[in-house]
Amino acid sequence: MGKLLICDPVDESAIEEMRNAGVDVDVRDDISAEELAEVIGEYEGIVVRSRTKVPSALIDRATSLKVIIRGGVGLDSIDVAHAQEKGIAVRNTPEANSNAVVELVLGLMIALARNVTSADKAMKEGRWTKKQLQGTEIEGKTLGIIGFGRIGQMLGDKAKALGMEVRACDPYIADSDLLCLEDLLAVADYISLHVPGGAETKNLLDAENLQKTKRGVFIVQASRGGTVDEQALYEALESGQVAGAALDVYTEEPPKSELLHKLVGLPQVIATPHIGAATEEALARVGGEVAALAISYLA
Ligand code: NAD
Repeated sequence: MGKLLICDPVDESAIEEMRNAGVDVDVRDDISAEELAEVIGEYEGIVVRSRTKVPSALIDRATSLKVIIRGGVGLDSIDVAHAQEKGIAVRNTPEANSNAVVELVLGLMIALARNVTSADKAMKEGRWTKKQLQGTEIEGKTLGIIGFGRIGQMLGDKAKALGMEVRACDPYIADSDLLCLEDLLAVADYISLHVPGGAETKNLLDAENLQKTKRGVFIVQASRGGTVDEQALYEALESGQVAGAALDVYTEEPPKSELLHKLVGLPQVIATPHIGAATEEALARVGGEVAALAISYLA
């Protein structure tokens, strides 16, 4: 019977399913990096989400490990190449979160268009600011999707159903309907990023590219912190080049730097704390996929 350590929160019913199938599950879903380094040698499997990092030094201590299961998509917090060199499989649950992210992005776009967060703030402060709250509609507007993978394509389908014109760019997909980044920036009223993190996409939207957008564009960032240059975005918001932005991911989580405090503090910015995948349904789907993987490797 394989020993599995759950290092980040996983749905209860998935834990029960793994135990019923004979996996020896320990749950320490707030384990610190130091504690994990102490105990990892005892386990044949670990389950992590975005909080727990798995660098090469930790992998070197994992003498019995067969599999690292990442509940969710991003593998940038795991040294995958090093794990594979050591014969440790790395698996994730790529489909499970997509709809949760798509629904958040749609909600954020409408919230930006209709000044929902400013309206709510004013009401709570006892101010009736109806005259200043005339918004716009997303129907008929062009949504530019950067990164047309699982989430990007699902967002495109649902945005079309709301009457948006959808254009996308993705250099790794051969499709004549796709645009290059420059052309997408020139036509989009809304831009939403759905690219992976890493060196290639770092500061994909930098000061130069932000200047190539339509003046008054709205930007939604729910991909990976660092794919939008936060300093450049702050300046573009201050100058009015970007009319508003909704941010779910940051270069530093939770944000501590002065720049990030200034950025999330702008009235035309809506900020959420990396909640793209945080729905009951996604948690259950991730749990189901994690359980199936754990059972296949360890039961
Ligand atoms: P995916 O791998 O299916 O799609 C990513 C797409 O980006 C691919 O089609 C790829 O070809 C494309 N791409 C790569 N480099 C590019 C570039 N330079 N320009 C344009 N396109 C490029 O991934 P996904 O499941 O759609 O996830 C997208 C992103 O969302 C990931 O970064 C993931 O970590 C993130 N995510 C965030 C949350 C959240 O809580 N906010 C939740 C889930 C996923």
